[in-house]
Amino acid sequence: MLSIEEALKIILEQTPHLAEEEIALVGAAGRVLRRNAVSDLDLPPFDRARMDGYALRAADTEGATADHPARVRAIGEAAAGHAFDGEVGAGKAVRIMTGAPVPAGADAVQKIEVVRVLDDGWVEIGEAVKPGQFITPRGIEARAGEVMVAAGERITPSVAAVLASFGCARVIVSRRPRLALLSTGTELVEVGDKPGPSQIRNSNTYSLGGYAREAGAEIVSASLVRDDFDATREAIAEVLQEADVVMLSGGVSMGDYDLVKPVLRDLGAEVRVEKVAMHPGKPTVFALLGEKVIFGLPGNPVSVAVSFHLFARPALLKMQGASQIQLPRIHAYLTRPVKGAPPRRSHQPARLVISNGRAEAEPLKWSGSSDLVAFMRADALIIVPEDRPGLDEGELVEVIMLSK
Ligand code: AMP
Ligand code: MG
Repeated sequence: MLSIEEALKIILEQTPHLAEEEIALVGAAGRVLRRNAVSDLDLPPFDRARMDGYALRAADTEGATADHPARVRAIGEAAAGHAFDGEVGAGKAVRIMTGAPVPAGADAVQKIEVVRVLDDGWVEIGEAVKPGQFITPRGIEARAGEVMVAAGERITPSVAAVLASFGCARVIVSRRPRLALLSTGTELVEVGDKPGPSQIRNSNTYSLGGYAREAGAEIVSASLVRDDFDATREAIAEVLQEADVVMLSGGVSMGDYDLVKPVLRDLGAEVRVEKVAMHPGKPTVFALLGEKVIFGLPGNPVSVAVSFHLFARPALLKMQGASQIQLPRIHAYLTRPVKGAPPRRSHQPARLVISNGRAEAEPLKWSGSSDLVAFMRADALIIVPEDRPGLDEGELVEVIMLSK
């Protein structure tokens, strides 16, 4: 049996990189950038007013107060998208709007709230300003030629805004992994069907599909297959035609009808991982068939989720060239004791709460690895080390944050 680290190492070493493609920035959300994005200009591109008010020379307002305002003469206007062309000399000011370039000669902006506009073209400044006040200097946010977003970063909404600011109308990203989901189990019926005696509804497709999409995959098919050698063989062979990754659930443990591994071997796939020293999720299978990646995840809904997050998610992200492929881990105080599963490393579903400013992990009450109802509330997994029969209340423990 492999340790989690050994299994993950094998998986990451063997998953191929997908090709790149050029796409429009509109619609690139969630994709992994494959080239550094470099700024083509300073940001802001000019000294920019941060307030509506008057641009002037700070020295002209020295000592100004509401009772003894400084008087300056208004000589023009600057608005966003429309600069004032002249220069602001001593004793002069320019009415300025937020986002406008600060005119030459001015070294500060005073906000309109403390300005009194007189009828004859003069304005009274009721509060002194310091040089630089209410000005965002050119280039403070970014310099032309700087790498703004590195290859390997995912395009989140705020990353997309940065790319847009630097003119990246088209971006080179990884192709999305084409994923086929195949749920094995004679007992399974589809969501729209009423299960008969000894049947259950297929739920894994919905959790796996959502997690995988969140990790950048495109679901090309989602189907059910009964526990029959030929049917399973045919179903896998068919979905392999259009998928980069096949993700099976169920049929990987030791039962008489657990046919995934024999079928994969029969198809000529190399099974590289078949058991991992973890709980839940021990019967996790990873196989390769040429360039195609196949995951055989356990059938139980909690096991499938744990196994996905530990192995399949990093593999999907690695295929896309992502630099951040692991879920974040933090430390949190345990609110109740939990049991371990030596010699396997255990993962206990938990809710994270911030209490008195510290992170606490509250283990969920779950009845076992089929308990998808309890798992619905999990936002983290408490790691119980492989050599610990349990963890104590109040202990500072490591937790993996789940994607929800
Ligand atoms: P298996 O790994 O095939 O032995 O399945 C383990 C348990 O998970 C069994 O109780 C199955 O009924 C259940 N199971 C398998 N596949 C699914 C699925 N797609 N959705 C919900 N439960 C499943
Ligand atoms: Mg089964």
